[in-house]
Amino acid sequence: MSGSDSLPATPSAMPWIGMPCAALESCMATEGLSPTHARTLFRLLHRELDPRPQDSPAALPPLRRWLATRPWVQEPVISVASEVASSDGLTRKFLLRLADGQTVETVLMGFTGRHTACVSTQAGCAMGCVFCATGQMGFVRNLTSAEIVAQVHHVQAALRASGQGELRNLVLMGMGEPLNNYDTVMTALEILCDRRGVNLGPSRITISTVGVVPGIRRMARERCPYPLAVSLHGSTDEERSALIPAGRRWPLAELLEACRKYTVATGHRIFVEWTLIDGCNDSAEHAVRLGALLQGIPSHVNLIPLNPTDAFKGAATGSSAAQAFQRVLREAGIPSTLRQRRGIDVAAGCGQLRAERIAA
Ligand code: SF4
Repeated sequence: MSGSDSLPATPSAMPWIGMPCAALESCMATEGLSPTHARTLFRLLHRELDPRPQDSPAALPPLRRWLATRPWVQEPVISVASEVASSDGLTRKFLLRLADGQTVETVLMGFTGRHTACVSTQAGCAMGCVFCATGQMGFVRNLTSAEIVAQVHHVQAALRASGQGELRNLVLMGMGEPLNNYDTVMTALEILCDRRGVNLGPSRITISTVGVVPGIRRMARERCPYPLAVSLHGSTDEERSALIPAGRRWPLAELLEACRKYTVATGHRIFVEWTLIDGCNDSAEHAVRLGALLQGIPSHVNLIPLNPTDAFKGAATGSSAAQAFQRVLREAGIPSTLRQRRGIDVAAGCGQLRAERIAA
């Protein structure tokens, strides 16, 4: 919930990779180093992913001397607790350990040769969606910008090590509700979009929310350049709230009005996430109601068959029923994509790998 905004992030996390270049310049200027040295350090940390910038030939003597007295610059923010790969080789899931021992999940997906990272923004989550393993474990704390950036660095390094090129797309769809950690998330994305670093394009980053209306309104006000995905999953407030408790706080009418304003202010369409659950929200009537809700809102629906978790007894909609649902949306003029259930054998739903490791 939004109350989690006020909870402190861990103070022990190394801040360097969590600072935008301008902040790094100001910080180093107070210690007598020129902006050139700060920009060199930023490039070494974010473009080269250099674990020992003080040894780099690109670092001039004043920067090297300065770094030599700051050994914590090379301390990693995260370490790998475990890694699994799907049998089709298209998905790798990392369980990453943070400095305070918390663990978060990061996923690398390699569909069509265009790699996408899915990162976490919180340890645990307060939103309690009933079908989500993270929601079932509860909220622990917000991640720092350094911890969000470090997940992307980890995936980028894994891609380079396996000769698969560079990361192209990023989705904030891992553990946690990104809009409940708004400022930190936006700082991390500023860093990741910096041309001197990872250099992701803002239009290739998708922020996924369960429907935190104040955050969506803020994205609209700030004309946020990042695409937005909103989880609906239910076509009435009652139906939706049974799956997503946040639906009680922000009813559909309020949520969709915020989405409409976001599309007007930013010029982006909205991605609507719809988890298809057998016998729960996958009938033709549900599709008709969803189509009606989205009239007048530039949108694209992602239909995702449920990933089963131990604590939620629902099953995924079968492929013919999913296709029928999609047909109804098409007749209503709403574009959609039926997602494949990739990575099911690596516990692909968010929080599942962590839950399994804790249970093991
Ligand atoms: S689906 Fe997302 S918002 Fe809902 S509980 Fe899981 S992590 Fe939190």
